[in-house]
Amino acid sequence: MQHIYLKPTRERPVNNGHPWIFSGAIERIEGDDQRVGVADVFDSKKNWLARGLCNPKSQLRVRLFTWQKEAIDQSFFSRRLSQALVFREQQLAGSTNAYRLCNGEGDFLPGLIVDRYADYCVCQFFTAGMELFKDDIVAALSALASPKGIFERSEGRVREEEGLESSVGTLIGEPPPEFISIEENGHKFLVDLRRGQKTGFFLDQRDSRAFLATLARDRSILNCFAYTGGFSVYAFAGGAKEVVTFDSSHPALELAEKNLELNGFTDRTGELIKGDAFAYLKEIEQKFDLIVLDPPSLAHKRADIDAATGGYKFLNLHALKHLNPGGMLLTFSCSQHLPVDLFQKVVFGAAVDAGRKVTIVRRLGHSIDHPVSLHHPEGEYLKGLALRALD
Ligand code: SAH
Repeated sequence: MQHIYLKPTRERPVNNGHPWIFSGAIERIEGDDQRVGVADVFDSKKNWLARGLCNPKSQLRVRLFTWQKEAIDQSFFSRRLSQALVFREQQLAGSTNAYRLCNGEGDFLPGLIVDRYADYCVCQFFTAGMELFKDDIVAALSALASPKGIFERSEGRVREEEGLESSVGTLIGEPPPEFISIEENGHKFLVDLRRGQKTGFFLDQRDSRAFLATLARDRSILNCFAYTGGFSVYAFAGGAKEVVTFDSSHPALELAEKNLELNGFTDRTGELIKGDAFAYLKEIEQKFDLIVLDPPSLAHKRADIDAATGGYKFLNLHALKHLNPGGMLLTFSCSQHLPVDLFQKVVFGAAVDAGRKVTIVRRLGHSIDHPVSLHHPEGEYLKGLALRALD
């Protein structure tokens, strides 16, 4: 095991429970400093502080898992995953069988995402440390959740920063079928675990979809950035008179159509339209009673924030221009680098430029299965505002 000694005064975030140690905070390392593995962290006076997994290839050198002297092994992962699972089972209604079972730092398991879709689990191992414990985690998950199969979708930028290739495929049990049927608040959705965006479904928006249903009655609704039609299904279920489902992805819209069918909404008014939402919002003449704006992250890194705020302003400005008097806008940003107060300022700027007077009806965010560690506020990425335009 490596012993990592921090520079003087750098122990404070560790003592406050923050799970990340960057290489710049490290004074020296005892042991094989080229190995990925378990590491103990000490302050500059050699006091033991915490235990985690380190990766010499990453600037984010250590991710902390525990502030107690406990072994990091299969039974450790089993305990943490069990705590995470029990919370979801307590909180989610029986009519929901798809949820985030483990939310990385938010479940004190940095680098691990586990999403449950009915009888299957999808895992994302984002760090070299987590990669080391893959077999232990798969064994623990199998025992706790008894899935038919566990599928891996370890892809993306974080893997690259850790010096890891993508890894996709069945880890144990049966390979998932082409589409899995899940239930969310009693609504049915088909999910493509292998090729769908994220791990197949935007589980983080469950609560906001349910909220939309309460606003939908007799309204004409534009679901912009609709993916597989999550908000559209809830809109019809809530009694919407018309729903336009808009996205740039053809496979997503194909599934959206099937999802509307699956829930019995084929005969309802509304179109599915493929295109670029930026162009569409600028060009259309139609107005709506309610618009949902749920774009993909426009800022992938801090340096993108300026460009991203321009994008959010454009979308919100044009959405507000297309609201009928008394109309509502549910607007979201899932950019981790865009703080909520800045997002609100951008939307305010859009309202001023659109010449609308707007109130905040509710603030929206991740569903309950996406907890954010109080010690790691960086984990909060999704924010939303439910707005009402006066006239
Ligand atoms: N609201 C959805 C999730 C939206 S994710 C839900 O509840 O499931 C963002 C979506 O934006 C993706 O489906 C992606 O295909 C789509 N998208 C990305 N760029 C786009 C663009 N320029 N115009 C329209 N859709 C876009």
